[in-house]
This record gives sequence, C-alpha cells and structure tokens, in this order.
Amino acid sequence: MMEKSLSELEQYRAQRCHDIEENYKQILDNIARAEAARGVDEGSVKFMAVTKTVEPYFINHALSLGIDLIGENRVQELMSKKPELNLEGVDVHLIGHLQTNKVKQVVGEVSTIQSVDSVKVAKEISKVSQAKGITTNVLVEVNIGEEESKSGLETNLLLETCHEIAELPNIKVEGLMAIPPICEESAKVREFFAQMYKLFIDIYSKNIDNINMHILSMGMSSDYEDAILEGANLVRVGSSLFGARIY
Ligand SMILES: *Cc1c(COP(=O)(O)O)cnc(C)c1O
Repeated sequence: MMEKSLSELEQYRAQRCHDIEENYKQILDNIARAEAARGVDEGSVKFMAVTKTVEPYFINHALSLGIDLIGENRVQELMSKKPELNLEGVDVHLIGHLQTNKVKQVVGEVSTIQSVDSVKVAKEISKVSQAKGITTNVLVEVNIGEEESKSGLETNLLLETCHEIAELPNIKVEGLMAIPPICEESAKVREFFAQMYKLFIDIYSKNIDNINMHILSMGMSSDYEDAILEGANLVRVGSSLFGARIY
C-alpha cells in the first residue's frame, strides 16, 4: 500500500515536471517570436514565473530550468514557502495587492514590490526600508481599465503619485505594472497595453529625479504575447507554465 501510493506521487511529480519543461520551452518560443515581431532584441523581455498556489517542489523544478525571477501574490504564502525554495541567484517580487499592515513583513524579503498603488503604502515601504537600512524597488500598479473591482492607481493620478514617491527615502520607482480587464478580443487588450506603454514612455521621458522608469510589467498566460507586441519588457506567467490553478 505504502509503496504504491509513494510511486503514484512520484509518477505525478515526474509527469508534472515534464509538463513544466515542455510548457517553458513553448513559452520561450512564443516570447522570442513576439520579441522579433516587436523588433526588440531576443532576450530583452524578462520572464517571471508566477508561483502562487504552486508547491515548492515544482517551483524548485522550474528554477532548475534556469528561471531566475518568481512572483508571489500573498505575503503569508511567500513567507511560508520561502524556506523551501532554492533561491540562490533568483529574484523574488511581490505582485499581489499589499496592505499597509503587511509592509513590515515583506520589506527585505523581496527585491521589488510590483503592486504599489498609493502614496500611503509607498510611505510605509519607505519608512520600513529606512528602519532596515535598505532600499526597496517598486513598480506603480495602474488600473488601466478603470475597473472598480481592481486595485491599481487611476491613470490621472499616476504622474503626481510618481513625483510624491520619488521624494521618499529608501524606495525607488523602477517602472509600471498593470493587469488589464479580461478581453475576448486580442485587439481590445492590445489597446490597454498600448495605453500603458504610452504612460510608461511619458514618465520615462520626463526624467524625474530618483525615478528609474525602465520596467513595464504586463501580460499574463492569456495575453503575454500581445503585451510584448505593445512594449512589455516583463511578463508574469503562472498557469501556462505550471498548469491550471486549483484553489
Ligand atoms: C496570478 C497572476 C499572474 C499570472 O496569471 P496566469 O494567468 O496564471 O498567468 C500574473 N500577475 C498577477 C498580478 C497575478 O496575480
């Protein structure tokens, strides 16, 4: 009995690891094709494996394939999995909505917080980073579809917010992040990505002191190629790599 269930687990793991490898190859091909179509250098788009709900065993397998950037959504899940992950040479970002009262726990545990959507949370990140003697990189999350249900900053507050964050010590704006509305048509989602690219270039060209606007994080499993075609240089892919999430 014991032996049988053990080997079933092993079979399941081997199969899923194999799937992850095949998926990763396919994704890299798709990214390369989109890069070529966009006319940017191969390898210029950074790939992030989104690891929410995925067990450390499979995350470590993905890391063994050469993936060097992962994203988690929830501080608690990140903290509980982190000790089991082989993170040498791997960058970890927080990509989920961050409440002010969780800032203390996450600052110093990730290199970048991609989901900063208020001056209030930025101030807390700045304060905690200062206390820990480190600088935390952040992306400003934009609610590009202006959806009530979504976090992210309204586009008309973006510039002012970037200026305010730039004034704070121990926090550095490195770019923008967005999750556009779910669109049935690729043309529609590309419009949102194009709007994001325009905002990104607008702020970049303003050369604001203490802002290094160089990362545009957009595109997930269903639309990362469209995002690259519109100028994304960091894509966040979960289910296309690891398989569908079962919550
Ligand atoms: C879950 C998640 C992703 C990845 O989603 P998939 O559709 O599984 O690729 C990317 N970004 C954020 C912010 C997420 O929460």
